[in-house]
Amino acid sequence: MIAEVEILRELGLLPLWRMRDRADHRAAPSASDRTEPARAAEPDAPSGRLQRIAALDWRGFAADVDACTACGLCRSRNKSVPGVGDPRAQWLFVGEAPGADEDAKGEPFVGQAGRLLDSMLAALGTRRGDNVYIANVLKCRPPGNRTPEPLEVEACRPYLDRQIALIAPRIIVALGKSAATTLLNVEASIASLRGRVHRYQGVPLIVTYHPAYLLRNLPDKAKAWEDLCLARATLRGVQAGSALPLQAAVAGPM
Ligand code: URA
Repeated sequence: MIAEVEILRELGLLPLWRMRDRADHRAAPSASDRTEPARAAEPDAPSGRLQRIAALDWRGFAADVDACTACGLCRSRNKSVPGVGDPRAQWLFVGEAPGADEDAKGEPFVGQAGRLLDSMLAALGTRRGDNVYIANVLKCRPPGNRTPEPLEVEACRPYLDRQIALIAPRIIVALGKSAATTLLNVEASIASLRGRVHRYQGVPLIVTYHPAYLLRNLPDKAKAWEDLCLARATLRGVQAGSALPLQAAVAGPM
């Protein structure tokens, strides 16, 4: 069990900061562990594509993403980045899109922002792959890490929807604006979406800052910790079968 002081330190709420050993993060199956044979998705009409994706199981999911040519990002990607973790996780974290490290490895959040996400998971007493699934709105890297284009989000969204249906998480944490606005289908700032329990198809959803933003804005880590505490309290409320803690949790920052 990690001591409270360690948790605060991991989140940058104490002066000290410790990078985790990257080897610790590999508990979850990585993209290179994927064994499904790559299969080319047939070119099809948009509605056929939606139907096919909506019917995918885990065996076919990564291969289908890998074969996707629905937007221009397939031309510049090195590896697609479908997602990683426990396929029946209670926690689902959703980021924006792969960066250079993720594009090279085929696994989400393996760069500097990923190390901070791992610290956030450790602060919650868990780690990737351990009741946690990590995905992105986009499964392929936008060149130069630019913000995803609306058409790219539109093209990739069926994969995220299918992933969420397959995982059936009990709590979703949207990391940053792209994830929050895509999942909630609203145009709004992170500031206006934080601190409340939203819903994605009935599943409680908490909005917090993207780890890459937190790396540039260290004081906001305290707010991110509040968001994670809200997510944890909300999950506990769901596990207890009560809606009551959802409301209690909203009011009380740590
Ligand atoms: N940023 C994201 O949003 N996702 C990643 O996988 C890496 C960085």
